[in-house]
Amino acid sequence: MIIILCLFLSSLAHAEVLPIITIGHSTLRAQAQELTHPEILSPENQKLIDDMVQTMRKRSGVGLAAPQVNKSLRMFVMRSFPGVPLTIVINPKIEYLEAYGKIDSREGCLSIPGKSMVVKRFNKIHVTYYDRKGNFKSEEFKGFKAIIAQHEYDHLNGVLIVDLVEQMKTLMNYTGLTDAPLM
Ligand code: ZN
Repeated sequence: MIIILCLFLSSLAHAEVLPIITIGHSTLRAQAQELTHPEILSPENQKLIDDMVQTMRKRSGVGLAAPQVNKSLRMFVMRSFPGVPLTIVINPKIEYLEAYGKIDSREGCLSIPGKSMVVKRFNKIHVTYYDRKGNFKSEEFKGFKAIIAQHEYDHLNGVLIVDLVEQMKTLMNYTGLTDAPLM
């Protein structure tokens, strides 16, 4: 157990903080590419996962998608918080569970510095994905975890929160406040 913990800590100790690209960069508008099973397990992408986790933590984000570090891959990471472990999500498919309704969610985006916006999110979603070991997962996310996953999933499809704000409300919702969670 101690050895495993040391290996884990040393792998993150070597992780790099990657530059985050911002709105206007073409990678943020691209449809990201799925990874094959060997690509998921490749040393290059395993390091990318560690680097993304490190980058998310250092930038105080709750989530980070690969396109935000200029890698057009269908992959994102989500921070751990009480009751929810650190989650690595690869090749996700989301089913929006409309029966559980939508909520207003105030979000910041690491790729849109200094701004936060109120957008509509589904309360509950069903997600299938692969973890960093290439294991298939089928889970329901709800609450804050569901919100983060929807934000990050949009990044994989070239969608940013500015696209989701209703036009008439844009100026009202587009504030300079930065206390919203960063994703
Ligand atoms: Zn974002």
